[in-house]
Amino acid sequence: MIFTTDVNFAQEMDAQDELASFRHRFVISEPNLIYLDGNSLGRLPHDSITLAQEIVNEQWGNRLIRGWNEGWMGLQEQIGGKIAQLLGAAADEVIIADSTSTNLFKLALAAVLAQPNRHKIVTDDLNFPSDLYILQGVARLVNQPLHIQVIPSSDGIHGPVEALMQAIDEDTALVTLSHTVFKSAYMYDLTAVTHLAHQSGALMLWDLSHSAGSVPVDLHGANVDLAVGCTYKYLNGGPGSPAFLYVRRDLQGKLGNPITGWMGQQHMFDFALSYERDSGLRHFLTGTPPVLSTATIEPGVDLLLAAGMARLRAKSVQQTEYLIYLYEQWLAPLGFRLNSPREANRRGSHVSLGHDDGWRIDQALIHDMEVIPDFRHPDNIRLGIAPLYTSYHDIYEAMRRLRLVMERRLYEKYDEGSTAVT
Ligand SMILES: *Cc1c(COP(=O)(O)O)cnc(C)c1O
Repeated sequence: MIFTTDVNFAQEMDAQDELASFRHRFVISEPNLIYLDGNSLGRLPHDSITLAQEIVNEQWGNRLIRGWNEGWMGLQEQIGGKIAQLLGAAADEVIIADSTSTNLFKLALAAVLAQPNRHKIVTDDLNFPSDLYILQGVARLVNQPLHIQVIPSSDGIHGPVEALMQAIDEDTALVTLSHTVFKSAYMYDLTAVTHLAHQSGALMLWDLSHSAGSVPVDLHGANVDLAVGCTYKYLNGGPGSPAFLYVRRDLQGKLGNPITGWMGQQHMFDFALSYERDSGLRHFLTGTPPVLSTATIEPGVDLLLAAGMARLRAKSVQQTEYLIYLYEQWLAPLGFRLNSPREANRRGSHVSLGHDDGWRIDQALIHDMEVIPDFRHPDNIRLGIAPLYTSYHDIYEAMRRLRLVMERRLYEKYDEGSTAVT
C-alpha cells in the first residue's frame, strides 16, 4: 500500500472500506471528536442501549426474581461461548466472571497449587502492573517458596523472547504474559511462546485484554492452557463490564478455583453445607453475577463476530501502518519517537508515540484539539485503533491536529505530570 499525506487518500480509503458501515452501529455524539481510546474503553453500541432498557424495564421491572430462570443464570456461559468464537476456543471453555485481575488470581493460584514441585512463575516487565501485583499476592499465599521472575525487555518495546527462553525451566510452574503489551502494543507469538512453556512442562496463562476483539487469537491452535481478558476495551462491553476466563477443557477437572463459592457448586440450590464443584467450567465462578453489565457485553461481541476478526485485523494493520506513515512524515522531525514495533505482524491495534513533552502534548490534544488518546508513563501518547469504528479520516485528523499542537506550541500552557485517568 502506497500512502500519501493528502486528505483525499483518507477519504478514498474510507469510501472503499467494507467495514465502514459498522461505525453507524455506535453512539457518536460529538462529530468533531476523534476518539482513539477504544483500547481503554470502547464506544457504546446502539444495541446496548436498547438491551439495557429492556433488561431494566421489562426483565427486572416486570419479571423480578423469575428473570434468573428466564435467562440471567445462563448469561455468563452464553456470552462466554460467543467470545470463544473470537478466540479460537470451544464454547464451553470461556466464561464471563469477575474482573481480569480476579480471574488472573484464580487461574494463577490454581496453576501453582496443581504443581507443588515447581517454585517459579515467569513473566516480563512489559506486563500490566496489576498482573504483577496479583502474582505477588499469589506468592504470599502459597505454603512454599514461590519466586516470580520478571524478565526485562531490552528496549521497553519488544518482548524479551530470548531471555524468556533462558528463564523457563523445569522449576517453572507458570509462564504468564500479556499477549498484546499495553504500552507498546508488542504482540507475542502465541504459539511459539506457549510451546516454550510446554517444553519445560510449565502451564501458560495469557492476558488477552488488549487482544480480544482486536487481533485474531487461536487458543486451540496454540494449545493454550489458560487465559483471561477484559471486555470493556475492544469488546465494547461498557465501563467495568466483567471479564472472561478460558480454561482448556482437559484442564477444567484438574485445576480448582481457589475462591470456591455457590455459583460453582454442583447442585447449588440443594444448599448442601460442603463444597462439591461443578464438573465443567462453572466451578470457576464464585458469586452472583452483575446481570446488567454482563448482558450488555453481548451486542459489542455480536458486531465483532459479524465483521469477522480476519477483516478487522486487515483493516487494523493498514490503519496502524497509515498512522505510522503520517508519524514518519510529520512528527518524527518534531521530536516524536515510535514506541511500538515497526513490523506489523508483531504489533497489536494501538500505536504509542513517545515525546519528552508527551504528557503536556496529551493534555493539549484533549483540551484544545478534541482528540482523546491515552497517556501511559513515562512518555507514551497511546493511540488505539478500533477498526469497527475508527475511520482513516479519524487517523488523518488526529495526526494533523497533533502536528498543530506542536506548531502552535499549545502544550506549553500545561503542567508536567498528573495521575488522572486518561
Ligand atoms: C485493562 C487490563 C486489565 C484490567 O484489569 P481489571 O481487573 O479489569 O482492572 C488487566 N490486564 C491487562 C493486560 C489490561 O490491559
